[in-house]
Amino acid sequence: MNQTVRLPTAKRIGYSACPHDCPSTCALEVELLDERTIGRVRGSKDNDYTAGVICAKVARYAEREHHAKRLLHPLRRVGPKGSGQFAPISWDDALDLVAEEFLKAERRHGTEAVWPYFYAGTMGLVQRDGINRLRHAKKYSGFHSTICVNPAYSGFAAGVGRIAGPDPREMAKSDLVVIWGTNAVNTQVNVMTHAIRARKERGAKIAAVDIYMNGTMEQADLAVLVKPGTDAALACAVMHCLFRDGKADWDYLDKYTDAPRELEAHLKTRDPAWASAITGTPVDTIEEFARLIGERKRAFFRLGYGFARSRNGAASMHAASCIPAVTGAWTLEGGGAFHNNAEIFKLDKTLIEGLDVHDRSVRMLDQSRIGAILTGDREALRGGGPVTAMIVQNTNPMSVAPDQNKVKQGFARDDLFVCVHEQFMTETAKMADVVLPATTFLEHDDVYRGGGHQYIILGPKLVEPPGECRDNHTVIAELAKRVGASHPGFAMSPRELIDQMLRVSKRGTLAELEANRWLDCQPAFRQAHYLDGFPWADGKFRFKPQWETVPFRSPYQSGPVAAMPRLPDYWAVVEEADAAHPFRLATSPARGFLNSTFTETPTSLANEKRPTVMIHPEDAVEQGIGDGDYVVLGNTRGQVRLHAKLFDGVRRGVLIAESIWPNAAYADGCGVNSLTGADPIAPYGGAAFHDNKVWVRKAE
Ligand code: SF4
Repeated sequence: MNQTVRLPTAKRIGYSACPHDCPSTCALEVELLDERTIGRVRGSKDNDYTAGVICAKVARYAEREHHAKRLLHPLRRVGPKGSGQFAPISWDDALDLVAEEFLKAERRHGTEAVWPYFYAGTMGLVQRDGINRLRHAKKYSGFHSTICVNPAYSGFAAGVGRIAGPDPREMAKSDLVVIWGTNAVNTQVNVMTHAIRARKERGAKIAAVDIYMNGTMEQADLAVLVKPGTDAALACAVMHCLFRDGKADWDYLDKYTDAPRELEAHLKTRDPAWASAITGTPVDTIEEFARLIGERKRAFFRLGYGFARSRNGAASMHAASCIPAVTGAWTLEGGGAFHNNAEIFKLDKTLIEGLDVHDRSVRMLDQSRIGAILTGDREALRGGGPVTAMIVQNTNPMSVAPDQNKVKQGFARDDLFVCVHEQFMTETAKMADVVLPATTFLEHDDVYRGGGHQYIILGPKLVEPPGECRDNHTVIAELAKRVGASHPGFAMSPRELIDQMLRVSKRGTLAELEANRWLDCQPAFRQAHYLDGFPWADGKFRFKPQWETVPFRSPYQSGPVAAMPRLPDYWAVVEEADAAHPFRLATSPARGFLNSTFTETPTSLANEKRPTVMIHPEDAVEQGIGDGDYVVLGNTRGQVRLHAKLFDGVRRGVLIAESIWPNAAYADGCGVNSLTGADPIAPYGGAAFHDNKVWVRKAE
């Protein structure tokens, strides 16, 4: 169990980490007003990545923590599915009921009929991933985690060989910070902190590449506006210019890369005019971007997730990651390509996840294809039987999963039993048979590792939970008892699991982490910059990736892998606009929300105002649409009604809907994911959230 909070009267600040699905994983200082109440949340000044800066939504976390609509008691459904009619139930009765339904599903269809479904509503290693221990111990259907990182990670690993790069703090020591395909102002504010420091302290330039003039583009010295899904064409043209202008570092290329002469020859025809026709970016802008990169070798490429959420996303990520290998930027402090530090921590999560009892013959179901899975698609079910029982923790698939109309159909099935363990009555919770109240990160013990930095940070329990809220670990352990799952991890407390994980991973102890608040895991410079070679057998960066064997944790490949480019190239597999669907829509992140989290907090709602789609003024005129008009977007998957905002910071033919609003905020209850597709991206699956062809018209 978690420890009881005993607050020393003199100590009014608690130390924690932001648990949300954001690479920044900020180190936090939380004002503790009493044993149940928090005040302001601040970024830790003495953590040199967070550097005292956090986003506004987490700074006012008290709005969420003490929200009047927190779920406080277990509930069971008493009306039709989705009616919102629930009655209170005791914890014991609720857990007994869930266990009974799981055992019933197992008797009827086998253990794979039960599908534990979770994601990154908390990124804590114990409270997020402990659900895997239950699934492994019981051989429940597996969870192929595809919704977020797969295209980006596999594209980065295709060249570099692993998901790690230079110390992210080196951004402040760069002469050029390229922020590519991530709106850091909205989604990971610390990137801006370090980039702006480089500008102030050493006259660095900031270049941004994105699909609309968002906050990050506005702050950049050079904003490179591209059409969605065309980033690889830009990257190819930049490399063309670097070879053409003598800015390629041939000593580096010969020593550290696999096929530089083949690359140079391949790029001869990929000049700025070629790229401009694909990206919509003026030739002069592409030339200026290439000139900056060529002149400022000490360039840090901060490559984001956004541009990889496209059917050609992995190929785009790979192409962008090739640029610093052409210039040899990797050799310099403040140079190289960084996407995420996932592979530096090397934490042994055997006890947390029950990896020692994982049976790899159990089927793995694709998280992003939940709609197809729950509506009985044979291929999505991987040839197995139906899913008839689920427990959902830390995610809200009714809102955030692609192909929403199918997801809704699936959750409406009368023969599907669903338990949702949540902090709020989300749209997924509303479809549940049993709803269990969950703790927030401030109310349980957990540990976090950075994605955008190199720290492991402790997040201990700081306040008592309201009502009858319980943490994920306790719920999973209680359920395990009732369904006959055995594993030593169920009997351990979160603190014991953290301590054990740190010890076996040779990362110290819980006591040490508690004393120091965080642990810096940054590898040495030579390793982080691959100066002794990239992690391939020949030590060479791959301009020619082997997509079939890119090192990645996924259980199987998806999509047209054999058709992927063999050298960096624009791969024309995006959902191109056509006569019936003349626009391309991207569902970029809103500043006040984090996926569907914070859509309940008053300040975020007030700042975001209402669901809106940005459209170029000339497109709006052609469609007879005025600023603020109510419009309908549609495609073969669904329709969405929202308000138009005329904005010349998008390219013609492109629509941007900053999301994710709750479905209930739209007329007809159809959220923006009614328009997004769930067809899996090559090579390892994922959802193309920013790659949708649509039509738009004024609503009647
Ligand atoms: S920037 Fe990201 S990690 Fe930092 S507080 Fe905000 S959501 Fe959390």
